[in-house]
Amino acid sequence: MAHILAVANQKGGVAKTTSVASIGAALTELGRRVLLVDLDPQACLTFSLGLEPDALELSVHDVLLGRLSAGIVVTTTGDGTDLLPATIELAGCEAVLLSRTGREHALRLALADVVDAYDFVLIDCPPSLGVLTINGLTAADEVIVPLQCETLSHRGVGQLLDTVHDVQRLTNPRLAVRGVLPTLFDARTAHGRAVLADVRVRYGLAVLTPPIARSVRFAEAPGTGRSILATAGRSKGADAYRVHARVIAGMPPGETAGEMAGGVPG
Ligand code: ADP
Ligand code: MG
Repeated sequence: MAHILAVANQKGGVAKTTSVASIGAALTELGRRVLLVDLDPQACLTFSLGLEPDALELSVHDVLLGRLSAGIVVTTTGDGTDLLPATIELAGCEAVLLSRTGREHALRLALADVVDAYDFVLIDCPPSLGVLTINGLTAADEVIVPLQCETLSHRGVGQLLDTVHDVQRLTNPRLAVRGVLPTLFDARTAHGRAVLADVRVRYGLAVLTPPIARSVRFAEAPGTGRSILATAGRSKGADAYRVHARVIAGMPPGETAGEMAGGVPG
């Protein structure tokens, strides 16, 4: 049965979608069977992996409302990773779910049909703490919190952790916080390190290393329909995501371990 990871932060632009696509592609490179789930009505993950959300007839929306089983909607992307795609219809799904009993469990129940076919499921949550993100957290074994290391960027972390604690108490006692993933990191400034040290002490969260450096290569990837692993094969950013994938897969960090040593202090 698959290990299910949600990638969540209610702040937009912190590299949730980029992290899901890149870790997913890296796990696929390692020979793991991977399903990505786009839970964001903006469908950026779906688009960035080469699908045209407006042209899709079936999406995660139909699955969450119980109209279709997940297996029918899953499609294979150019990276070789499977995807449960989203469309803008997902925005309306939120309102429909709210009137339903057991609304927090819609994704968990839907995934039960397909989890045996995968080693890992990665869920790309939307930039909110609404019913879709709660569905992602309720379906997950672990949550990863991408964090852009700039002033006050951690202010939403407490709120996200409150939601995680609610989910642990009410809908998913097995949910664990894997840690904070530093993204858009600028190693040249002491400031990013200070933010991470603060997050570690203030919230008691693990900081996952290596941090993902800010790089123009990432901004280019979504337009190509492939993840950064395909467009920037051996770049530092792609290799950093490969290290995370190896650790998630239970393997030694690998040849890029040198980056870890130069990563975050403490
Ligand atoms: P989110 O899903 O949290 O809203 P995205 O993954 O869509 O965030 O990333 C937001 C923007 O930042 C995108 O344009 C993406 O290409 C860019 N980006 C992500 N990671 C990096 C990085 N390491 N360096 C530079 N740009 C990045
Ligand atoms: Mg996103």
